[in-house]
Amino acid sequence: MIDDSPELIVIIQCEDVVKRCSGFLCMNDFYERLGKFENYPEEVRYMTITCGGCCGNLLTPKLENLGMRLRKANMTKDDVVIHFASCVCSDNAHRQPCPFMNRMKALLNRKGFNNIVLGTHVSKKAEAKRQAGIYRKWE
Ligand code: SF4
Ligand code: SF4
Repeated sequence: MIDDSPELIVIIQCEDVVKRCSGFLCMNDFYERLGKFENYPEEVRYMTITCGGCCGNLLTPKLENLGMRLRKANMTKDDVVIHFASCVCSDNAHRQPCPFMNRMKALLNRKGFNNIVLGTHVSKKAEAKRQAGIYRKWE
């Protein structure tokens, strides 16, 4: 069970998709507390990182850097919830879900980040396609 009062949300975006997407909808849903962010209190902050490219190996130094910054800010990894952006973990208009998801999840766990949520912005069009069986359901 993930604490719904974390201090920081970290969104992991796909290195390929951010070449085409500004991330506006993830940002907007966070501030409006929509989609997968709906239960977070007002004071929770967020940041984004990218996976670093296939096959997600470059997440390792980014997570080490994040862990160091958290320690210096008197925060722990348990104060953080990691969200995989919807375009990483679900069927979407940009591309297939990431084939390296489980690998990246294992990497996060190995680095001590255990609060992991699949999804960020929930697109109405993608939801309709899920309902119609065109897209796979959320895990
Ligand atoms: S979920 Fe949507 S808005 Fe967020 S990074 Fe992916 S494509 Fe961009
Ligand atoms: S590892 Fe996954 S999330 Fe990262 S660039 Fe490749 S497909 Fe995108």
